[in-house]
Amino acid sequence: MSGVGKSFSVERILSLYPQVIHHSHYQGRNFTHSQITWVKLDCPFDANTKGVCIEFFRQIDSMLGTNYHPNYAGKRRMLDEMLSEMARVAANHCLGVLVIDEIQPFGPRPWPCLNPVCNRYQEACIETFEIRPYRVAPKGIEVGKTADFRCECGFTYSRRVPDPTTGSDDGGYWVRSRGAVWEEALRRLSSSGKYTSRELGQKLGVKGSLIRSKVVQIRRAWEATKQARAQARAEARLAAKELKRAECREQMLQAMKERPTASRSQLRLFAPVAHAWLFKHDREWFEASLPPPLPHIKLPSSVDWKQRDAEFAAEARTTAERLKQAPGRPIRVSKNLIAQEIGVSPIIFIKALHLPLTNAVLEEVSESLDDWAVRRIQWAAECFRQAGGRPTSGQVLKRAVVTRKKTRQKPALQAALNAAMRTFETQHGNRK
Ligand SMILES: [Zn+2]
Repeated sequence: MSGVGKSFSVERILSLYPQVIHHSHYQGRNFTHSQITWVKLDCPFDANTKGVCIEFFRQIDSMLGTNYHPNYAGKRRMLDEMLSEMARVAANHCLGVLVIDEIQPFGPRPWPCLNPVCNRYQEACIETFEIRPYRVAPKGIEVGKTADFRCECGFTYSRRVPDPTTGSDDGGYWVRSRGAVWEEALRRLSSSGKYTSRELGQKLGVKGSLIRSKVVQIRRAWEATKQARAQARAEARLAAKELKRAECREQMLQAMKERPTASRSQLRLFAPVAHAWLFKHDREWFEASLPPPLPHIKLPSSVDWKQRDAEFAAEARTTAERLKQAPGRPIRVSKNLIAQEIGVSPIIFIKALHLPLTNAVLEEVSESLDDWAVRRIQWAAECFRQAGGRPTSGQVLKRAVVTRKKTRQKPALQAALNAAMRTFETQHGNRK
């Protein structure tokens, strides 16, 4: 048991007795003897038995003015020898009680874990500590001793071991290692993205600046892992491709061996997968290893394209003329419309096929958007003329569905409008 005020109670009880009793008489005779009722040895937690013996002799000497310490506690004395001397001295002085009290420098065991993210935070869960010399520089002089307290979570903190002569522990500590649980908590909290460095620092019991550098480290490590994984995947893909290549070549060679006279396209039927793969991914080997392709033979066409082209061209011309002459509001005579009328739609086939003459005629007779707008202006003016009206240019444009802005931009439209308006002026003049 430790830390229940035992040392204090023992001292109070012992102080009730005189420590040394000097006898001068015994049963009516002169008798000189110093009896020691009790000795209490305070010994440091890390002291050995020899140290306890030395302390014992020192205390007896200070009580009685004897010379046990210099006589019996020399450095070269063996422990056994010292222990028997101690027993003899104790017997000589009729020692009543020997109390050996261990001084505990860090208070009662067990000690708390100081890791804020440990589930035993501030709970007394550390049973032991480890003493190690404390040096100023990494290889500097030893200035004292420190005790390392390590929790199960991996968090380890150190405290200075107080000098027993100068006083007690100041309660200060420093973190030696934060351990896996702490690092994991940092990783989890920082990757959640919910907290600032300062908030993380508060949660984890460190400064925000430390958190920032730690987070950078974590991110770097993560990037490195990611790169390593990507590289591994790329290597695996490459290996798989090489395997596939070997497999396909083997298949193709086998097919060629079994059918030595087969052509390239026949081989495709015998080993379709290998053929397709090698054609796409191993073209060089494919070209070098397979039999050369047979020349393409042109089949005679059953259609006389030249004659058909001439017929279509003539038809396109008359159709365009007919559409432009059609009564009512002008519709745009586009290439597509003409093609549709002569039955060769869609136009893309006309271009792709063998109809150069037809294409040239379509290009010539089809209307652009501006051509169409001019024709609409002419038509609108004609409508007003037949009705006997005298429209403004705005009315003509509105009827033609052409904007004023467009008219200003395009000289052809402006010219058409001007011409149309002039016809009304001369009509008007004639009437006068
Ligand atoms: Zn812990």
